[in-house]
Amino acid sequence: MSAHQKLYEGKAKILYTTDDPEILLAHFKDDATAFNAQKRGSIAGKGEINCTISSHLLREMEAAGIATHFIDSPTGNQMRVRRVQILPLEVVVRNIAAGSLCKQTGLPVGTLLKQPLVEFFYKNDDLGDPLLTRERLFLLELATPEQVEQLKTLALQVNDILSAFFQRCGITLVDFKLEFGLDRDGTLRLADEISPDTCRLWNNSDDDPDRRVMDKDRFRRDLGNVEEAYQQVLERVLAQTNQQSE
Ligand code: UDP
Repeated sequence: MSAHQKLYEGKAKILYTTDDPEILLAHFKDDATAFNAQKRGSIAGKGEINCTISSHLLREMEAAGIATHFIDSPTGNQMRVRRVQILPLEVVVRNIAAGSLCKQTGLPVGTLLKQPLVEFFYKNDDLGDPLLTRERLFLLELATPEQVEQLKTLALQVNDILSAFFQRCGITLVDFKLEFGLDRDGTLRLADEISPDTCRLWNNSDDDPDRRVMDKDRFRRDLGNVEEAYQQVLERVLAQTNQQSE
């Protein structure tokens, strides 16, 4: 395949080939979707903000010894990544009850979970990304039992590092979604992005259930000031990263 061809366009990113068949270029878009793309819109500057936040956080993971697809970020809204085969799983980690967990269990929003909960969803838009049981996951052969154990361990490790990082930013990591891929050697690598699109982030200095929201729920729930919230997360992540490197 020749270089710089569009390989895939998703809801938030476009993937291009490069001169190196093992390296892809991810272009982060301003497009925003929610509720399985039933709600569509745009968040000004989101592509660059999410690319920058993700780059910093993926570097943070690499520094902690977690293999990721991240190589570098040549421009504000572009990330060079290793080519991986994405597992069709959304690995969700929750520290506090919100979103679909509350809808499906009746747990009140904001309930502190005694221990982090790891859940697997089937990454399949046509089916609406349904929650998987372990049995269904194996029935569909979406991962091997060894991979599932590895994914859980990795997801919990990411949660520890990410929760601590955001806590230093004055932000509570409520829940988040991860995606993983297999590289040519069969190594599991953390892939996709880590950003206000994929994490629920609550401002520690505000108790108000609407005002504290610093993530895509502002777009999902029409809370307003979406760009400002994303920008605020970026500023805190940058300040924290700079402080750590001093
Ligand atoms: N999430 C995501 N992409 C998805 C579904 C969920 O990034 O397709 C993230 C979401 O932003 C939240 C976490 O995963 O941080 C848990 O989402 P939940 O299952 O509560 O689903 P929701 O009700 O947000 O659709």
